[in-house]
Amino acid sequence: MAKGKVYLVGAGPGDPKLITIRGLEALQRSDVVVYDRLAGPQLLHRIPETAERIYVGKRPDRHTMKQEEINRLLVELALEGKTVCRLKGGDPTVFGRVGEEAELLKMHGIPYEMIPGITSAISVPAYAGIPVTHRDMASSFSVITGHESPDKLDRSIQWDKVTNATGTLVFLMGVAKIGYISEQLIKHGRPETTPVALVRWGTRAEQATLVGTLRDIEAKVKEAGFEPPAVIVVGEVVRQREKLQWIEDKPLFGRRILVTRARSQASELVQRIDELGGEPYEYPVIETRMKEDPKTEAAVREALARAETYDWVMLTSANGVDFFFRWLDRCGVDVRRFAHAEFAAVGPKTAAALRARGIVAGALPESFRAEGLLASLSGRLQPGQNALLPRGDLARDLLPRELEAMGLSVTSLDTYENVLAAPRDEWLVELLREGGIHAVTFTSSSTVDNLLEALRRQGAESPEELLSGVPAVCIGPQTARTAEARGLAVAATAEPATIEGLVQALIGLGRGAAGQA
Ligand code: SAH
Repeated sequence: MAKGKVYLVGAGPGDPKLITIRGLEALQRSDVVVYDRLAGPQLLHRIPETAERIYVGKRPDRHTMKQEEINRLLVELALEGKTVCRLKGGDPTVFGRVGEEAELLKMHGIPYEMIPGITSAISVPAYAGIPVTHRDMASSFSVITGHESPDKLDRSIQWDKVTNATGTLVFLMGVAKIGYISEQLIKHGRPETTPVALVRWGTRAEQATLVGTLRDIEAKVKEAGFEPPAVIVVGEVVRQREKLQWIEDKPLFGRRILVTRARSQASELVQRIDELGGEPYEYPVIETRMKEDPKTEAAVREALARAETYDWVMLTSANGVDFFFRWLDRCGVDVRRFAHAEFAAVGPKTAAALRARGIVAGALPESFRAEGLLASLSGRLQPGQNALLPRGDLARDLLPRELEAMGLSVTSLDTYENVLAAPRDEWLVELLREGGIHAVTFTSSSTVDNLLEALRRQGAESPEELLSGVPAVCIGPQTARTAEARGLAVAATAEPATIEGLVQALIGLGRGAAGQA
C-alpha cells in the first residue's frame, strides 16, 4: 500500500479562526485527526464527518498517551496509507515536540509537512492587550519553558542571561512554578516592581488575566486559585494592558454560546456573536432538505401546474423561499406564470429572500409572526381567492386555518422537511457538565426538541438536567413555550423575533460568572 502523509499542524491558541488557511486545508483533507486538549474543540467541527478522530490528550478517566506512543501512532496510521493531521496547540515547533514526531516519520520515509501556527506566546498576551514588544519598552522577547522540575529548570535556563536580556520574558507552562520564576528573576537583578501578567485560556471564552509584580504575583496566584494553562508575561509591556485591552470590553466577552440552528442558516448569528466578543459554539441540530417522497412530489407538481390560478403566494421563511424556487426549477415552472398572484412574506428575512430573486413582496406585516401577516393583509384578502402556501413540514396551522376561515381556498405544500441532525461532538456534553456553555439559543421549537435528542445520542442520560442551568434565549414566544415545557431555563425572548433581536437578548443577559478571574 502507498504510504500516507502526515501534516503537523499548528492549531493556534484556541479561537478557531486563529488557524492558518494552509492548516485548515490540511485538516479538512485528512482521513485521521490526532489532537489534544490545546487544539480547540471547535476546529473539530471543521472536519468531515467521515474522518476519524483520535484524542491523545489528558483525560481524567483514561491513561494518557506518552509522546513515544503518539510518535508511533502517527507512523502506523501513515503506513496504513492514511493522510494524517496531527493538530497541535499554538505553533507545533514551540514546545510542541514536533521534532520527535518528524524524526520518526523521516526514519520511516513518511512524507510530512510542518504547518506553522500562531503561538500562544504572542497571541494570548495580545488578546489581553499586551504586545510582546514595544518601541520604547522592549526591543526583544524570549519564550521560555517553565514546565520542569526546579533543578532541571536551573540547568536548562541560564537565569543570569535570561534576567538581563533587554526585553519581555514570556513563560509557557509556568503557573505551578511562578514563585520560583519570580525569585530567580529578582535574584538575578530584575526589580521587584517589574509588572507580571498571567493570561489563562487566552482567546477562548474562559480567558482570564491576573496582573501583579515580581514581588507579589505568587501570592496573588495562590489567592485567586489561578489555574493553568496560562502564559506568563514579565516586563514593562504588561503596563500597556491598561490602555490597550480590547476584547474584554466587548459585550459578549467570556461567553460561549451554543447555536443550534441549521448550519446553512446559522452564519449571521455566529458572525454577530463573534463580532461582539463571544464564542459561538455551533451545534446544528436541524437540517432542512427537499421532501423527496412521491406523494409530496405529486402534490407539488399538481399545485404548480395551476400557477396561473393563485391570487396569493405566501411565504413564511427564507427557507420556504429557497425550496419554493428549487421546486420551480425541478418542475420546470417559470415564475412568471405567477404574474397574476401577489406575493406576501412573513418577516424581513423572507421578504429579502424574495427580493433577491426579483420579487418585491406586496405587503409586509408589522409583526413577524403569521398573525401579523393576516392583520396587515386583512383588507385585501377576499373570500373566493386562491392562496398557495409553500412551507416546511413543521409550519404551524394557524395561517391556513385563518385564511380558510376568511373564505379563501388554500393550497398548503410541504416543500421541505426539517430533520434531526446530531453531529458528533465529544466535547459538548463535557462542556455542559462543567458549566462551559454560558447560553443556548433556540430559533424554533424543533431546535429545542432536537437538541435534547441529539444530546441523548451523545450519551447524556438526562439532557434536560444538563441544560437546566444554562440560560436559554429564544427567538419568539412559541419557541420559549416549548423550551419552558421541557424544563429549560428561558432567560430571554427576542423582541423583535429576529436574529438581531436574539443577539440583543443575549447582550441583555449581562455578563455571567464567566470570563473573570
Ligand atoms: N505549542 C504551543 C505551546 C505548547 S506548551 C504554542 O505555541 O502555543 C503548552 C503551554 O502553552 C501551556 O502550558 C500554556 O502555557 C500555553 N498555552 C497554550 N495555549 C494557551 C492558551 N489558550 N491560553 C494560555 N496559555 C496557553
